[in-house]
Amino acid sequence: MSALGPVYGVAFGQIEAAALARLLRDSGAAALRLTPHRALILEAGGRRDSTEFLTAADDPMLRIDACPGAPSCTSATVETRAMARALAPALETVAPGARRSLHVSGCTKGCARARAADITLVGRNGKFDLVRDGCAWDTPSQTGLSPEALRSFIGAL
Ligand code: SF4
Repeated sequence: MSALGPVYGVAFGQIEAAALARLLRDSGAAALRLTPHRALILEAGGRRDSTEFLTAADDPMLRIDACPGAPSCTSATVETRAMARALAPALETVAPGARRSLHVSGCTKGCARARAADITLVGRNGKFDLVRDGCAWDTPSQTGLSPEALRSFIGAL
């Protein structure tokens, strides 16, 4: 909540138009303000529960960046955003309270995050390479991790 009204986070900075219309209508907001941190402020609006926007300040999704990935981008061989959502709960177990960041990138270009993350997963040939404390284009410390193995792997880091 800000002094202007309730704040809603936007996962990956991507909004479904119908979801935004519903939120605006239900909140009764007088105006919509965009922040530079992938969030909306609904000025003079009422707080509404939402399954489409992030409402908890400690939601791990707020610390995850992911590009569109496959099939949206032809440079990607992996699904990035579905993987990011699946890994969000595991991110909490990496270091509870440490608020670590995760970047899931479809390839080494790293479009979604041009700075280091605590954990970066980079798609390559349908699997993921792992970079710790670096960017998508940095040398990975582990390679060839399958999407199926990643959830338990991330939780054990
Ligand atoms: S990082 Fe690679 S896969 Fe992701 S959007 Fe950029 S070019 Fe496409």
